[in-house]
Amino acid sequence: MSIRRVSCPARILFLDAEMAVLDELEGGFTAERALWCTLEEGHEGLHHVIAQCADGTESAAPWVMWARWPRGNEYGPERELLRLDPCPATFLAGAVSEEACSLPLGHVGRHDYEFGPPITEADVMPDTLLRRLDE
Ligand SMILES: [Zn+2]
Ligand SMILES: [Zn+2]
Repeated sequence: MSIRRVSCPARILFLDAEMAVLDELEGGFTAERALWCTLEEGHEGLHHVIAQCADGTESAAPWVMWARWPRGNEYGPERELLRLDPCPATFLAGAVSEEACSLPLGHVGRHDYEFGPPITEADVMPDTLLRRLDE
């Protein structure tokens, strides 16, 4: 997890009609009226934030409802609530400290686990050490 806050400072305030859509989703959390963009600060294109999560069913996997909106024109025509697939990237895949990117597929900017000062595998405690601490 990043310690410093380095995501985009843009905020969205949901309209009553949007809140109604979010509250209707099966198995979601209590929708928040104000949320901050989760992309990297200074990114190009639309702002994005997870607005709601929906439970899966026997035949469908759980999914995520995103909100996206244009910069400088918060209520512009590009503003929408839509279902987006997750970014498939993971850091240290297969390791104890594996971290998945929680941004949508094809997002701009870096993966969220890369925000902040650059990190490499060398900055992370090796799995062998973590396992020893566990014992
Ligand atoms: Zn943004
Ligand atoms: Zn990513």
